[in-house]
Amino acid sequence: MCRSLRCKSGFDRPGPSFRASCSGMNFHPHVSPQLKGKSDLTSLNPAKPWPRRPWQPLMRLTDVVNLDVEAMVSDAAAHGVDCLIVSAGGFTAWYPTQLSCQRRNPYMTGDFLGEVVAAAKRHGLQVYGRMDISKGYVEWYQQHPDWYAVDADGTPIRYWELHETCFTGPYFQEYNLQIIDELLTNYPLDGLFYNFYLLQSCHCERCQEVVQTAIGQRVPTGSRLDPTYERWRHQALADYTARIRNRIHHHRPEARLMVYHHLQKGWDPRLMADAVDIWTAQASSPLLRNPLDPQPAWLYWIGEEVQKGQVLKPGVPPMLWLSYSEMFASRRVLQPADRLVTHIAQGAAYGASVCPSLNGVPGRQEDPRPLQAVAAKQHELERLAPFLEKTTVPTRVALVYSPDSFWFGPDQGEPGGRKHGHLPEFRGLYAALIDSRYPFDVLIGGTLNAPTLQRYAVVILPALHCLTDADALALDRWVRDGGCLMATADTGVANADGHPRTRPAAPVFAPLPGEAQSATGGYLRIADPALRAALGGSSLIALESAFLPLSIQGAHTDLCLLGPFRNNAPEFTFWEGGTVGPPGLVHQHFGQGHSIRLPWYIGGLYNTAAIPEYPVLLGWLLEQVTGPSPIMTNAPPSVQVVLREQHRPSGTRWLVHLINNTAAAERPLLSTVVLPPVTVRVRCPARRVYLAVADHEARATRDGEWISVRTGSLFQHELLVLE
Ligand SMILES: [Zn+2]
Repeated sequence: MCRSLRCKSGFDRPGPSFRASCSGMNFHPHVSPQLKGKSDLTSLNPAKPWPRRPWQPLMRLTDVVNLDVEAMVSDAAAHGVDCLIVSAGGFTAWYPTQLSCQRRNPYMTGDFLGEVVAAAKRHGLQVYGRMDISKGYVEWYQQHPDWYAVDADGTPIRYWELHETCFTGPYFQEYNLQIIDELLTNYPLDGLFYNFYLLQSCHCERCQEVVQTAIGQRVPTGSRLDPTYERWRHQALADYTARIRNRIHHHRPEARLMVYHHLQKGWDPRLMADAVDIWTAQASSPLLRNPLDPQPAWLYWIGEEVQKGQVLKPGVPPMLWLSYSEMFASRRVLQPADRLVTHIAQGAAYGASVCPSLNGVPGRQEDPRPLQAVAAKQHELERLAPFLEKTTVPTRVALVYSPDSFWFGPDQGEPGGRKHGHLPEFRGLYAALIDSRYPFDVLIGGTLNAPTLQRYAVVILPALHCLTDADALALDRWVRDGGCLMATADTGVANADGHPRTRPAAPVFAPLPGEAQSATGGYLRIADPALRAALGGSSLIALESAFLPLSIQGAHTDLCLLGPFRNNAPEFTFWEGGTVGPPGLVHQHFGQGHSIRLPWYIGGLYNTAAIPEYPVLLGWLLEQVTGPSPIMTNAPPSVQVVLREQHRPSGTRWLVHLINNTAAAERPLLSTVVLPPVTVRVRCPARRVYLAVADHEARATRDGEWISVRTGSLFQHELLVLE
């Protein structure tokens, strides 16, 4: 890492601290000097802050040769890093282990882990030991076949050139605990982090016996996920995770456990969040993804994972993993700096701890290009830390993510799966909410209850195929008490395990949608003049994929289906008379509240093709229910606006992050296009505005309940602090 804070684009990064530059004004970060730049959130030990600006060197075996550990650690500390996550144990040991279940790094002559811990303690950094028990060396297989997982044919399961370990075998059940004992007895670690952590589906005789005893069936071999087996797998992994967490706490009560799998394969996030100390998720965006598990590109992935993590484990900043690598499998060439920095800014804006993961160590990179800019951003986040802690979203809108629908609906647990699944619908609506500038929370399906729901005026269910009975009843009651439920596509057609429902789960979900029909070549015809006006005078919205007709009487309806027209030769793209199909918008009253149903894939289509009318329609519907969004801007849609609120004893503070994703069209973000100044209006009683990244106060004007401010030129990220 380089100590210069000048980035390659020639923009001077902020120099003097906010505290210094604002002396005499009313901006006070409200942190003690000891805590400056550190989180004041705590868990078991009230004195120990959560890691907020971690860094993970993904060590190569040879990196330990002649490595200046002190220089590596002091350079990280100089750039605001507060926690190192370094290789410790598992199939390779990075310390002089006495256990034969680990292979000492053959290039190591001393004690790499011990040296890192000693240097980190001198610099006030936390250290988490990185573990990997998911795999083992192929050479060990002849002697220890019982350590490894096998497929239905009995062949060991490989990942890269290693064999995956079996969850019921001795590596997980005995040796991992011995490694924990050895590590935490000998090193004052602040926690352990398990890489590639999963219960691999294994067909060995031992696993067959365990599964047969637990659920009365063998390990399934079909391509569809089996709910009975998956639920067993979820619970078994969560129970095991709690067991290793307890073992860690037994040695060091203040140490913490984090676990990671890039797909969270076999995880129930609701159970796993309870079993760990810190919730973690992947938000890597290499230009080419992991070739073994390809996943779709997704601009707002980081925000999505942070919002999920904040509701799964409230009060603990989620940890997000961000790979430096440009192509996942060609780790040594790094992503462009602008891309990495905007992703880090997105995570920080939502309140996450973003952990950049670098293959190897900084001084030994063939491609050092983005290191300086990322280090400068980490350093800047240390300065901005008081504005990033304990923030919430000022909103009465919630979007529900349903793990059950993702596993047992059309997605079948595949993130790159079908267009008609829950995840693409969720992500499309997530993006449409951002693009319509409505702040929102994320809720987790299977956990909905009255105290949670009563915080919201609108709850959106995106193709929530697998609706639990308890969620359905809680939502029904909440609607009758005044809530507005917005449900799209095939919401509610199945129970939690994916079995089709023959009757609605609750009256508010009646009627069940009819059989899906193709909508390709069709339109939705707008009757409401106000919606036509919102869409600039258009009376049609284009439609594709599937439409699920609702057979309904006595409701207010609009957006009736025209077509679809099969003969798309231009001569035949006309229609005569008033014949229209079923409605694409159904509005019904229930008690004090109401439901809005959109029985088509508005989110999936927006996720696929960014159809511009869809966020306008969504924003128009939300405005009918909740009034205008509390934030407006003339910035283009490529600028992501994140509005947060911070409640302090001295009053509320509003924070507006502007993340500039403007880049060449139809291509991934490689280089940020600098924008001219933009205007932001926020509905709040604040009287002054500080541009925290640029590090100066901005002139603000008040217009009734709105405050208006103009930024300077917008590079990667700006943070408006309103007090
Ligand atoms: Zn097994």
